[in-house]
Amino acid sequence: SAQSAAAQRRPRSARVNTLKMSVAEALTWLRTPKGKQHLKLAELGAQVTQDELLPDVLLFPPATDLHDHPLVKNSCLILQSKASCMPAHALEPQPGWDVLDACAAPGNKTTHLAALMEGKGRVLAFDKDPKRLKRLKANAAATGADCITARVADFLQLPLATSPEFRNVRGALVDPSCSGSGTTLSRMDFLLPSHAAQHSPRSEGDRIERLARFQEAVVLHALTLPALQRLVYSTCSVHERENEAVVAAVLPRARELGFELAAPFPGWPRRGLASSVEGAERLVRTHAVEDGTDGFFLAVFQRKAES
Ligand code: SAM
Repeated sequence: SAQSAAAQRRPRSARVNTLKMSVAEALTWLRTPKGKQHLKLAELGAQVTQDELLPDVLLFPPATDLHDHPLVKNSCLILQSKASCMPAHALEPQPGWDVLDACAAPGNKTTHLAALMEGKGRVLAFDKDPKRLKRLKANAAATGADCITARVADFLQLPLATSPEFRNVRGALVDPSCSGSGTTLSRMDFLLPSHAAQHSPRSEGDRIERLARFQEAVVLHALTLPALQRLVYSTCSVHERENEAVVAAVLPRARELGFELAAPFPGWPRRGLASSVEGAERLVRTHAVEDGTDGFFLAVFQRKAES
C-alpha cells in the first residue's frame, strides 16, 4: 500500500546515549568497525549521517534493522524516532537542574533528559502503570541514567505546589497518553490533521475528547510547580483537539501564572495549525509522511522574565 511504502522510505533513526558514548565516538565506531564479522556494519557505517536538527540523532537507511547491533545491545544507541527526540531537546534542561517527567514510562524521553543533563541533577519520573514503570527503571539502569528517580503515581494527585520534593523543579516534560494517531501510519496521515478527527467514527471522537481533557489537566497541574521555568507538552497525535486545542484551552491559565509560549526549533518549517490557537507559529508539528518520522506535536511554555 501507499502507507507502508511511505514507512519503508523513512530513514531509520537512533539516538546516541551520550551518558555512555559521545556522538563523535559513535560515528567513529560505526564508520570503522573492526573484524570480518562486521562486514554488514561496515556497509552501515558508510551510510550513517547525523541529523541536522538534533545533534545526538543518527540517521540510517530506511528499513535498516538495528535490533542486534552491538551499540544497541549495550545501550549506547537507543532506537527512537527523530520526532520523539524533539521534546527533551525542546525543554533545554541544564546539568544540575531538577526536572520532572509527568507521564514517563517506558522512559525514552526520561533517559534522554538525563543524557542532556549529563547525568547531573535530578529527573523525577512518574507513571501510574506499575508494569510500564518497571520498564522505565530497567531502561534507566541499562542507559546509566543514575539521576532518574522513578515512582508509581497518578501525576494528577501529586502535591506539586506544596511538597519540598518539587520545590526546585525547573523543567517539566508532559507527554501524556494520547490517541497515538501519529505513530500508526494509517489513512489519517494522508488527511489534513484538521480533517482527521471528522473522518473518525463517533466513538473515536469521544475517546479523543476524553484524552484531550486529561491532557489539559496534566498540563495545568504541572504549571503549578512553584519554581517551574519551562514546560514541554508533546503528543504523538495528529488530532488538532489533542494538540493546538489543548494549548488553547490551558493558555489563559498559563498566562495568569506568568507563562507564555516559547518558539522552539525556529528553523523547523512545520508549525501548529493556526485555526484554533493564537501563536500557532510557535508550536511544532511533524508530519508522518512529509518529514520522514512519526506524526508529532509539541508546545513549550516558558515563564516570562520578571519585569
Ligand atoms: N514519555 C514516554 C516515553 O517517551 O517513553 C511515553 C509516555 S506515554 C505517551 C503516556 C504514559 O502516561 C503511559 O505510560 C501511561 O501509563 C501514563 N499515564 C496515564 N495516565 C497517567 C496519570 N494519571 N499519571 C501518571 N501517568 C499516567
